[in-house]
Amino acid sequence: MPSVTSVTKHEPLLEVKHLTKYFAVKSGSSWRKQQVKAVEDVSFAIYEGETYGLVGESGSGKSTTGRTIMRLTDPSAGEAFFQNQDVFSLRSKELQNFRREVQMIFQDPNSSLDPKKRIGYSVAEPMIIHGQGTKAKRKERVLELMSRVGFSPHHLERFPHEFSGGQRQRIGIAKALALNPKLIVCDEPVSALDVSIQSQILNLLVELQSEFQLSYLFIAHDLSVVRHIADRIGVMYLGHLVEQAPTDELFAHPLHPYTQFLLSAIPAPHPKLKRERIILQGDIPSPLNPPPGCVFHTRCPFVMDVCRQVKPVNREISTGHTVQCHLYEESASEDLTISRRKGD
Ligand code: SF4
Repeated sequence: MPSVTSVTKHEPLLEVKHLTKYFAVKSGSSWRKQQVKAVEDVSFAIYEGETYGLVGESGSGKSTTGRTIMRLTDPSAGEAFFQNQDVFSLRSKELQNFRREVQMIFQDPNSSLDPKKRIGYSVAEPMIIHGQGTKAKRKERVLELMSRVGFSPHHLERFPHEFSGGQRQRIGIAKALALNPKLIVCDEPVSALDVSIQSQILNLLVELQSEFQLSYLFIAHDLSVVRHIADRIGVMYLGHLVEQAPTDELFAHPLHPYTQFLLSAIPAPHPKLKRERIILQGDIPSPLNPPPGCVFHTRCPFVMDVCRQVKPVNREISTGHTVQCHLYEESASEDLTISRRKGD
C-alpha cells in the first residue's frame, strides 16, 4: 500500500472517477425497482492544499457526492482514490486510517455534537475513538484547538445549547481538526448562518488551511460563497457535474447555461453595475425520472433538438475548464456556439 510520502505534489490527494450513486425507492410495503439517480458519472480531483468547491441547487447531488466519498453510503459505481488508495475497497485498519485523515464538517454542527456531552468531551471524542494520546495529552490538544477557534478553557465545561450557531460551527471545526486530517469535506458549513457569521467562518477555514496544510471539498448551494474559498469549482445539476474550472476562469467565462443562470442570480457588487438576471422555466426535474439527453434541456434557454436526445460529453474548452453542453461541440450548432461565446 503506498505511503503518504509516495504522493507527489502533482498527484491528486483525492481523485474521484465516474462516481455514480442511485438510491432504491420504497413504494408501499415493497421495494420498487425505481431508483433515485442522485449522482451520475462524476469525476474530479483535489490536490494538496487546494479547495475544490462543489456547487448546485438542492437536489443536485453535491452532498451525496461528499457523503459517498466519506464512505457514509456505498457508491453504485465508480472509484475514489485517496493518496492512491482505493477508498471503496478499504477495510478495517485502512478504513480507520482513512477516517482519521478525512473529516467532515456538517451544515448543522449539532450532527457532530452530543447535546448531553460537554464540549470538551465532544472535541476529544475522535481522539478517544481512535485511541490517540493519554487523557492529559488529549486535554492539551482540545485546549489548543478550542483556543485556535476562539474559545477559552472554561468553555470546555459547557453544553452545545449554551452556544450560538456560529460558535457551534467553530466547535465543529475544532472537532474535525482533532485528528490532524489532510482533507475536510465541508458540507454546506455556512448555509444556516447569518451573512456576517458566514464570512467569519470562511475566514477561519482559510486561515486553518494554510496553518494545517488542509485540503477542502467545499459543498454549497451559493456560488458567491464558494467563490470566496475555492481554487476550483465544479457545478452540479441533477446529479451531473456540468462544468468545472478554476474559480476566476469560471466567473470570467461561464460556459454552461446553468452556470450562467447561477451567476446571474448573484447580486451585483454595486447598484450601478447591472447584471442581467436569467430566469429559468419550471423546476428542477425529479432525479427519479431525469430527462433523456441533456438533463438540463427542460429548462435551458438554448435548447436544441440534439439536446433532447443525446447526452453531452465532457469537453475541455481551455486548460482545466470542462463543460457538458452541445453548444460547445463543433458538430452541434457552430453558429449558436459562436454567438454564445461572443455573448460571454
Ligand atoms: Fe442547454 Fe443543450 Fe447545452 Fe443542455 S446541451 S445545456 S440543453 S444547450
